[in-house]
Amino acid sequence: MELKALYLYAAVLTVLLCSSVNFIQSPTDVLGPVALLEPTPSSARDFGGVVSDTPFAVMRPESPDDVALLLGALSSTAPSPRATVAAVGAGHSLHGQAQVRDGIVVETRALPRDVHVVSMRAHGDDDDATVCAYADVGAGALWLEVLEECLKFGLAPPSWTDYLYLTVGGTLSNGGISGQTFKHGPQISNVLQLEVVTGKGEVVTCSPTEIPELFFAVLGGLGQFGIITRARIPLQLAPPKVRWVRAFYDSFETFTGDQELLVSMPEQVDYVEGFMVLNEQSLHSSSVAFPAQLNFSPDFGSEGREKVYYCIEFAVHDFQQDGSSADHVVELVSGKLSYLRPHVYSVEVSYFDFLNRVRMEEESLRSRGLWDVPHPWLNVFVPKHGITQFKDLLMDTVSAGDFEGPILVYPLLTDKWDGNTSAVVPAAPDGVMYIFGVLRSTDPARCGRACVESIMAQHRRVADEVCRDDGGRGRGIGAKQYLARQPSPARWRDHFGAGWGRFAARKARFDPLHVLGPGQGIFPRID
Ligand code: FAD
Repeated sequence: MELKALYLYAAVLTVLLCSSVNFIQSPTDVLGPVALLEPTPSSARDFGGVVSDTPFAVMRPESPDDVALLLGALSSTAPSPRATVAAVGAGHSLHGQAQVRDGIVVETRALPRDVHVVSMRAHGDDDDATVCAYADVGAGALWLEVLEECLKFGLAPPSWTDYLYLTVGGTLSNGGISGQTFKHGPQISNVLQLEVVTGKGEVVTCSPTEIPELFFAVLGGLGQFGIITRARIPLQLAPPKVRWVRAFYDSFETFTGDQELLVSMPEQVDYVEGFMVLNEQSLHSSSVAFPAQLNFSPDFGSEGREKVYYCIEFAVHDFQQDGSSADHVVELVSGKLSYLRPHVYSVEVSYFDFLNRVRMEEESLRSRGLWDVPHPWLNVFVPKHGITQFKDLLMDTVSAGDFEGPILVYPLLTDKWDGNTSAVVPAAPDGVMYIFGVLRSTDPARCGRACVESIMAQHRRVADEVCRDDGGRGRGIGAKQYLARQPSPARWRDHFGAGWGRFAARKARFDPLHVLGPGQGIFPRID
């Protein structure tokens, strides 16, 4: 539908009416001539499909200055409208985190999305030259767009998400994890510099050495301190090919033991993930994003019995065109693993196809009408000592017969997370935590609103139980949720734990009137 541009004086007028602010001399004096647009149905939707908050207006900024104008006016200490603002990237949040009821949504995809690659060769001849490279990218760019541009130079960022149709600003506001995280850290550990418009409307360039407080606040900062408009991402050489391997297990302990062995070999292994196979049949009915041409249909002989299996997925980058170097490493590494012999499968694919593998899963789900549906997901970081307990608790809530979607399980190393960022991970005494991602799609024909709500209530109960920290005395294991919206500000304080004071102090400094990020439900707007 063609959008009708409204001018800001109208926006302000309505916000004033809605928010009962009594006086402003002249609205145009307050906000200036920046165009706002009427919301569309997609302004009140996200991938989760369970929250729908309609904004008052939408902004498609052409530059950071447009964003600065808006935020500067809304956080002015002079009488100003009480509206709140949320940045939205690709809208792949799960619980309305990028939505804002009666406020203004800033679509970062409208900002310049250029990807500018800078590469310098230093020292030595061609063979031992080190490459120092980075990409300056617009925060509204999708990671797919970043990859496409960097590959033209034979380069790529080291750290990824499984799915590439997410924006740079969106994943940097959360964490950004995938099978490379054990080796390179999350995406928020792989940023050199940011350009941010703070909640006060200041356009600031920051880095670990330049205004570090803002830099670290924004990384994993859930959109609370500023809107990221650009990011500088380090790059490394991209391999032409990747050898992608899957090995199957029928014991959770052996599966996780082998995953931990793999993450202890960062010199050889470039990617480690894993998933639960709720029963053998589920493998035959889903592509689970392994290339179709591989005829991937393992038979474990469970003959219709519902038995849970586990699959490790690991990958080795191959810089030789003939694939020989990765084959050798895979043979060596596989020899150390205790998978169900002979159930190991491997395929060589281009680096691009490997990183973009979830697109296949998306296409498969779309073809079955299971993409644009509610997604009651649960993502939890679990310290190593609690993983068996968590898995058992989870299995009480899952029925193999009607579960649609993957349950990801893989280890991460806590020392790869920079404690200065706003991201929250559990204390893990041995330095190993696991991500459990219960990525369920619900078919509206079989699971209506009440059913989706009951799944979410079940997830809350599981999260409540495992996120408590009983210091080893009770069943709480001090886990932390990832990508979740906590039900109240008090629960956010529990989530941040000892980090709450720093998080709140950063909010007071960079967004003192709490204009930004209302969809997270952390800080109510201050009048
Ligand atoms: P949005 O949903 O648009 O926004 C997310 C949050 O960030 C909101 O609070 C928003 O206000 C804020 N925000 C957005 N842009 C900015 C900005 N420029 N500046 C400041 N704040 C901003 N996550 C992983 O870590 N690893 C995965 O492998 C992974 N796979 C996924 C696969 C799918 C299919 C989906 C739906 C999600 C996946 N996620 C994954 C989660 C994803 O990283 C987050 O939901 C992320 O926020 C999505 O990015 P987005 O651009 O859609 O952000």
